[in-house]
Amino acid sequence: MNNFSPNMLKTFEACPVKYNLKFNEKITVPQNPALFEKGKKIHALANYYHRGADITKLETALNSEEKLLWERLKNNEYFSKKCLHSEYPITAKLGATWIFGRLDAIVHDGDDYYILDYKTGTIPKNPERDYQTMIYLLCADKIIRDKNSISFVYIDLKNNENKLIGFNEERKNIYEQLLHTKTSQILATKEFEGLENRSSCKFCEYAKICG
Ligand code: SF4
Repeated sequence: MNNFSPNMLKTFEACPVKYNLKFNEKITVPQNPALFEKGKKIHALANYYHRGADITKLETALNSEEKLLWERLKNNEYFSKKCLHSEYPITAKLGATWIFGRLDAIVHDGDDYYILDYKTGTIPKNPERDYQTMIYLLCADKIIRDKNSISFVYIDLKNNENKLIGFNEERKNIYEQLLHTKTSQILATKEFEGLENRSSCKFCEYAKICG
């Protein structure tokens, strides 16, 4: 497999065995849908909103917490900019491999473009080096050729804050190198080893089938 998404790279880094079960063996394990419900609703609403649909009925179905998050997003300075794409699949070639993902939205203010990612939970601990940040910026940089700038914005709805990550040639080279190193490591792996410290295995959905 020569196609890599942020989820794949994060999973490999968290546990190579889990990566192998999920993406090579293609074993899917059901997860509690309640864990994702809030995020799914906010993302769906944001997509309808950006596409100009009438969402008044959908808004009335939100509970109080969801309503608060949605109001924060609607009033966010970046979300309010002009939308170019919403729920948009992206892909780009990186050496002999492909990187891909699906953006929440790309908005712009003239020639300044912003990739948006709405978070109802926590934003990454190291957002500048998160695989999602790197892959989305590299893909969007190739797609949007005529621009002044492109940045990535994590919209932290829980804390009502934005984390903006800029992009330039230096960062582009660093991201390409980091992704090349990680994807090469995955492609060269013959034996997928599990975690030595099993303390986090209790949260793993593959625990019952993992040898
Ligand atoms: S149970 Fe632990 S070792 Fe097995 S796949 Fe999950 S995280 Fe990896």
